[in-house]
Amino acid sequence: MGQVERVYTRCPVCEHVFRTSSVKGYTTVGRESDLCPKFPGRQSDGSRLIQHHVTMCPACSFASPEDFAGLDLSFDQRSNIEDRLQEDGLLRVFRTSPPPWLGFHAAEVCGQEQGYRARDLGDLCLRASWVCRKEKEQPFESTFQLRTVRYFLRSLEHEGLHGRELSVTTYLVGELNRRLGRHREALNWYVNAERTIEDEGLAWLDRLITRQKERAREQAA
Ligand SMILES: [Zn+2]
Repeated sequence: MGQVERVYTRCPVCEHVFRTSSVKGYTTVGRESDLCPKFPGRQSDGSRLIQHHVTMCPACSFASPEDFAGLDLSFDQRSNIEDRLQEDGLLRVFRTSPPPWLGFHAAEVCGQEQGYRARDLGDLCLRASWVCRKEKEQPFESTFQLRTVRYFLRSLEHEGLHGRELSVTTYLVGELNRRLGRHREALNWYVNAERTIEDEGLAWLDRLITRQKERAREQAA
């Protein structure tokens, strides 16, 4: 594992002060085909490293990517976030014994209120699906993959993505569809992704698309 740094932080919603940790300088050994980082060692260690991407307040469940430093919420935002956190179905069920993916879902709920782009909400759901896979929580993995696809489709339609972000997002819509068993759909999106690639910096993605397209074709047959 990398170097763990423990710091006190104050929740911008409920003012609760708690200790949180962040990890610096860990190593990865490549990525899986949905871009989930691979870590040396045990899957559960990898899951913990991914979980450090979000911070969640243990008192009210407010959560956000990275830490709470520099977050400036208006009075209305705070109270709307509090309402959403109270009413959210998954948080209601899981708050008392939070599963490892809960922070990502909480950050998604809070991000909606803060006007996050669909691309960024999708990214939170994608990371939640990685944690679920590493923790062998298959039904939740699929749930979060499906939500990622929905956010990414909305983003592709409305957020004017370009360059690397456009190519990677389009590819991921294909790859997540393949993982969800929709192989024809996946093939279409791999082709779309190929068309978006312009610069040589994305040669790695081009190779990945070719490989995954082949897999989807075999699986669709
Ligand atoms: Zn709080």
